[in-house]
Amino acid sequence: MVRLSVNRHKPQAVFFVGSGPGDPELITVKGKRLLEEADVVVYAGSLVKEKVLMYASKSALIYNSASMILDEIMKIMITAAKAGKKVVRLHTGDPTLYSAIREQADILEKESIPYEVIPGVSSAFASACALKKELTMSEITQTVIFTRLEGRTPVPEKERLSELAKHNATMCIFLSVGMIEKVAAELLQGYPDDTPAAVVYRATWEDEKIITGKLKDIAKKVKKAGIKRHAMIIVGRTLCQGSRRVPSGRGHRSKLYDKDFEHGYRKRKKKV
Ligand code: SAH
Repeated sequence: MVRLSVNRHKPQAVFFVGSGPGDPELITVKGKRLLEEADVVVYAGSLVKEKVLMYASKSALIYNSASMILDEIMKIMITAAKAGKKVVRLHTGDPTLYSAIREQADILEKESIPYEVIPGVSSAFASACALKKELTMSEITQTVIFTRLEGRTPVPEKERLSELAKHNATMCIFLSVGMIEKVAAELLQGYPDDTPAAVVYRATWEDEKIITGKLKDIAKKVKKAGIKRHAMIIVGRTLCQGSRRVPSGRGHRSKLYDKDFEHGYRKRKKKV
C-alpha cells in the first residue's frame, strides 16, 4: 500500500497590500481581488482608510493593528497562514515606503511562510495629483527625494533635510508635518526662501485640504490651518508649473513631445 502524505495545512501566502492613499478606488485591481479573497485581513488602522475594507468578504476576520505590537500582529498572521487561510496585511499608500514591512517579512521567512508584496499608490503621488503638478519637469528638476524629518526614528546624518535641500530637487516629506517649522528651517539652508511649498492633508479623503505657499511662509499657514498629522509636504520649483513665473526659455515643455525631437517611436515632424 502506498502511503500518501497529505499536507492539509500547507501554509497560505501572506499578501502585503498597498491600499493607496485613502480613496478606495485607488487600490490596485490585484489588491482589491486579494482583499475579496482574504480569510483574514490585518490593516494598519492608524492610516488606512477603513472604507477600503468594503472589498473584504463578509466572512473575513478583520483586525486593526493600530494598538498592536509586532508580536501580536505576527501571531495573528502566522496562525492563520499555517491553518491554510489567506492573509492580507493592508498598509497605507505603497507598502515599500515607511511601512515597516521588512521586520514582518523577516519573521514570515523564519516561519517558512511565503509572502508577496503588492504595490499601492503612495500618498506622495496622490498629493502631487491633488496639486495637479508634475514632480519632475524639464529644465527644472529631474529628481524627487522621498524623505522625512528625524523624529523618534533616526535619520542618517548625510540625509538631514538641510543637506538634501542643497540639491534643490523636488522633495516629498513624509511623517513630518507636526514639525513643519523645523522642516522649513532646515530646508531654508538649501533652497531659496521663495521656493514653492505645499502641504496636502489627507490626499483623496473627503476632508482633503491643500495649503500652498513659499518656504518662508508655509509653516505659518499650516499652523494656522491646524494641520498636525497625516499630511504630505512637497517642496520645489516644479510646483511653479502653470504659473508664468517659471523661468524657462522653452516654456518648460518636455523634449518628449517636441516636434523637433526624434526618438525610436517617432520621426521629426515639420508641421502638424
Ligand atoms: N506607505 C505610505 C506612507 C506611510 S508613512 C505611502 O506610500 O503613502 C505615513 C505618512 O504618509 C503620513 O505621516 C503622511 O506624511 C503620509 N500620508 C499617508 N497618507 C496620506 C494622505 N492620504 N495624504 C497625505 N499624506 C499622507
